[in-house]
Amino acid sequence: IQHKRLRRKRCHQCLKNDKLEVVICCNCKKRQYCYDCIAEWYPKKKKEEVEHSCPFCCGNCHCDRCLQAGGVMTVLNLLIFTGDGNKKQNSLYILHSALPFLRKIQLEQQAELDIETRIRGTKNSPSRSAHPQDLLIACFNNCKTSIANFHRSCPNSHCSYDICLDCCNELRKGIQPGGLDVTSTSGHVSWEANEDGGIPCPPEKFGGCGTGNLELRRILKEAWVKLLIERAEYFTSNYRLPLLDCSRGCSMCRAVFSSIRDNSRFSEERQASCRQFSQDNFLYCPDAIDMGDAESAHFQMHWKRGEPVIVRNAVAKASGLSWEPKVMLRAFKTACRKLMSNDLKVKAIDCFDWCELEISIDQFFKGYLDMIGHQNGLPRILKLKDWPPSNSFEQCLPRYGAEFLAMIPFPEYTHPRYGLLNLVTKLPEGASKPDLGPKMYIAYGHAGELGRGESVAKLHCDVSDAV
Ligand SMILES: [Zn+2]
Ligand SMILES: [Zn+2]
Ligand SMILES: [Zn+2]
Ligand SMILES: [Zn+2]
Ligand SMILES: [Zn+2]
Ligand SMILES: [Zn+2]
Repeated sequence: IQHKRLRRKRCHQCLKNDKLEVVICCNCKKRQYCYDCIAEWYPKKKKEEVEHSCPFCCGNCHCDRCLQAGGVMTVLNLLIFTGDGNKKQNSLYILHSALPFLRKIQLEQQAELDIETRIRGTKNSPSRSAHPQDLLIACFNNCKTSIANFHRSCPNSHCSYDICLDCCNELRKGIQPGGLDVTSTSGHVSWEANEDGGIPCPPEKFGGCGTGNLELRRILKEAWVKLLIERAEYFTSNYRLPLLDCSRGCSMCRAVFSSIRDNSRFSEERQASCRQFSQDNFLYCPDAIDMGDAESAHFQMHWKRGEPVIVRNAVAKASGLSWEPKVMLRAFKTACRKLMSNDLKVKAIDCFDWCELEISIDQFFKGYLDMIGHQNGLPRILKLKDWPPSNSFEQCLPRYGAEFLAMIPFPEYTHPRYGLLNLVTKLPEGASKPDLGPKMYIAYGHAGELGRGESVAKLHCDVSDAV
């Protein structure tokens, strides 16, 4: 280890230049870390390792500036999955998979046009929506789904009630859309479709104005979906999905399974149940590090069948950035300032009674270390849910955001911006998108089950897929 007592350069971590004992990196020959900082912030690294390649060179430096400088990992990661020749195949695959849904939308729109023609007695093109931001229109009052193109809207400018075609059809069948409980005291439904199929604006108590009939409107050009279908059919006319017989379980899993059954290596499959005469007792369970090029097709096969997939060893794909409470606390302090919450307070949940409490982030992260007890003797377990609160993980915690995305397997499906097979990445700028995260749930843990106040969400279901 090189001791430089004469040249007083600053320690990259603490920025002090009065440290006598420092390690200089042999790789960049530039950065140095003082002994104190290595012991404090990199307790798992030996000084020799730091000398060979410093934390900065390894991409896992925990200094304030590096914690704020993001993106490095993401860029590296991106090259792996966008620069390949699979782009065309992936695009054809997604086009082929989306086509049936486009056809369904088209059929639904055509049926609505037919109803409109019947009501008016003549063929009539729907007029463009009057909303200034019409890409954000959703069926807010009923099913909450975003609206692709045709919908019905109240012509009363003070009302502007919108409803999707699906909900219109439910109403025509006598079902109250969106699961609304709208039966009046006498048991009669107080909002129903007209005899001719027209939909009146619902009474005020359902969010409408009750003054007239809803008009058929469009967001995009009338023939837009039809054109899309024609183009998609043209491009995919020669495309064939790979034929896979999965009636007897997954052939790819079985091949790997039998070839390694004899040695002690982990299998690609994990037994999840023991049902007799069942072909699906096993879950596909690949190792993140061993995944080759063919793994994506293999994943698709299980994904299509709606099976859960467990990816092992995902942490090994990260750069080694520390998720220790004291390192995260430093990153969080900067993040809170970016969120303009100057008092550095967060809303945490006490897992014992699920009550929300306001706590300083200092206290929250220090609580990891001492877990001050509840009055009844159980440790106090706190949880920070859905953090950061807005869709801004990468502004608040850029390094952690990049590190996190680097660990998520199958980026072509999971990357929120560049996933070639992630349909949401194809939506136009300004369209309403589900909040795709990443989001963090940070909770204290306890080795044994306490029977009450557990902090880990074992199963979580959301409106859309989330990371
Ligand atoms: Zn230092
Ligand atoms: Zn270095
Ligand atoms: Zn640094
Ligand atoms: Zn709806
Ligand atoms: Zn209205
Ligand atoms: Zn398989």
